[in-house]
Amino acid sequence: MTSNKQPEVNIGLVGHVDHGKTTLVQALSGEWTDQHSEEMKRGISIRLGYADATFRRCPEEEEPEAFTVSEHCEEHDVDTDHLRTVSFVDAPGHETLMATMLSGAAIMDGAVLVVSATEPVPQAQTEEHLSALDIIGIDNIVIAQNKVDLVDEERAKQNYEQIQEFVAGTVAEDAPVVPISAQQEANIDLLIDAIEREIPTPERDPNADARMMVARSFDINRPGTTWEDLLGGVLGGSLVEGKLEVEDEIELRPGREVEEGGKTEWRPVTTDVRSLQAGGDFVDEVTPGGLLGVGTGLDPSITKGDALAGQVAGPPGSLPPTREQFTMDVDLLERIVGDDGGEVEEISTGEPLMLTIGTATTVGSVTSARDGECELALKRPVCAEDGAKIAINRRVGARWRLIGVGTLRG
Ligand code: GDP
Ligand code: MG
Repeated sequence: MTSNKQPEVNIGLVGHVDHGKTTLVQALSGEWTDQHSEEMKRGISIRLGYADATFRRCPEEEEPEAFTVSEHCEEHDVDTDHLRTVSFVDAPGHETLMATMLSGAAIMDGAVLVVSATEPVPQAQTEEHLSALDIIGIDNIVIAQNKVDLVDEERAKQNYEQIQEFVAGTVAEDAPVVPISAQQEANIDLLIDAIEREIPTPERDPNADARMMVARSFDINRPGTTWEDLLGGVLGGSLVEGKLEVEDEIELRPGREVEEGGKTEWRPVTTDVRSLQAGGDFVDEVTPGGLLGVGTGLDPSITKGDALAGQVAGPPGSLPPTREQFTMDVDLLERIVGDDGGEVEEISTGEPLMLTIGTATTVGSVTSARDGECELALKRPVCAEDGAKIAINRRVGARWRLIGVGTLRG
């Protein structure tokens, strides 16, 4: 049975550390998300930061006050109607976790940029996350001006103007700015209203081949489990196209590195779907959108500790090629985003770059660089199709900084 609680869209929570992303996810994610199986929930929520929420509407109330995450409307003593279930991808706001943010962005259909009203705008990762959204092409954005309970009206207004000034000329230029307090759960109705309008569920072809972007992978067995009781490896991620059913055969690319006759090679891995979890329930079938867990027949030692994060899954023979090297068209930013800024210099032959392609993060070495394009040899291959968008990061000082966008040319 397909559950109507199945999430249909992924919404990223992005913004600077401590601005209230996780608090906002909690305020929005309602009660029933507790129904996840303990292991799966613990697993998925550790690093990707993941929660489902159901937006509802009170039939007796005017909009936007009618929007809620509660199943019951206290004021009119009626049950609320289900609008849609969404998955939130809670991006880490810390500067050292940009790679995690970027691979999370690959599965975001839209984003809520959380900006604290208590600090000058922009803070470093407010700016860096916004340019990441721009680079990856996420233009359905809502801005949550958070912590308004901590500032007086005058400061809230000033901060609001700073936000407007900051987003002018960016992908978030026309994004609505909704003042909220995530902690006091104030104006959550207005925020849901804005999300419902700005971040629609993308149209997807349910007849296309299944395509899952793997963002996490786990071994959910307790230590000491005997082999008879051992459960197969679990994949976490998002189905971006098609349908997936229990018992389907799937292939994973790039797969595994195998050694044979002194040579190493990446080979696709094939397995079957043993269980599917979406919207807090075990289901027989999943449709695109939202985050899901896939129990497989894989040896859990293969899936342990995110070993398969960044891979792509689908019916055998349907996936894009595995690439150990490729050419990309390059569009560099003018300046490095963030406080210590600086001009972005041309890419040069021999330099290492960190690339995010879909949910995969890999390091490549530039084997040839010309104006507007470069060739790379990757340490770890990726499965990606021609035209794929690539976030390009360069090591500047102690960390990788976003310097531009690439388009894979094959
Ligand atoms: P994140 O790093 O963006 O995920 O931020 P958190 O959600 O962890 O919040 C950081 C701190 O700000 C926590 O102590 C929260 O309780 C607090 N906080 C978040 N939202 C609000 C708010 O709307 N008002 C107030 N007063 N505090 C908030
Ligand atoms: Mg957080």
